[in-house]
Amino acid sequence: MSESKKNEDPKVYEENAVFGEITLKGWGCKTCNTFYGDDKSVAQYCCCTHRKCNECGELTEKTYLICRKCRDKKEAEKLQARLDKAKEISQVGYENMIYSESHNACYHDIDSYLTRCENDDVDPEEFVFATTFKRFHIDLADIKERVGEEHEIEDFSMTFDFPEHLVKAIKQFNRDAMVQKKNLGSFQCDYTRKLKVEV
Ligand SMILES: [Zn+2]
Ligand SMILES: [Zn+2]
Repeated sequence: MSESKKNEDPKVYEENAVFGEITLKGWGCKTCNTFYGDDKSVAQYCCCTHRKCNECGELTEKTYLICRKCRDKKEAEKLQARLDKAKEISQVGYENMIYSESHNACYHDIDSYLTRCENDDVDPEEFVFATTFKRFHIDLADIKERVGEEHEIEDFSMTFDFPEHLVKAIKQFNRDAMVQKKNLGSFQCDYTRKLKVEV
């Protein structure tokens, strides 16, 4: 119903404008008695703290479908599958950082990775992943589009020009990023290549 129609035909509060008492059917939590209507699964979930792991049946916190042990096992299998698929490359001539998935960290080289393993008293892995270097790049067209969207101005990117000094500075920055080796960019894990950890 449109707003104007509603206004033409007001429904005024009156004492007896009710059906009478209505009994609701539905599901409630048996611990705290909260009523959840027809949402049975929410009622079941309400006050429980644990549930059975979908994989092994052990108890786990209710926010997880599978327990910590089974999650770790799955992660380890996923990592192993990735490592099996990756191509082994030589350390000779390799200059990028390396990435250890199980540490979730990048290292400058195998030596600093081994030092960390020693300090943390964990066994080094047989392989770690290589990384690729992704250069920073500022896209003027992207920025324009975002400003236009934020201000809800149509055709903003067609009609607005950034000041020349800003355009020049950004172009210079992008050129610098292309020629500078290490500080204008970031290292991204490359799951397709791996390096052997020689202890
Ligand atoms: Zn409850
Ligand atoms: Zn489990």
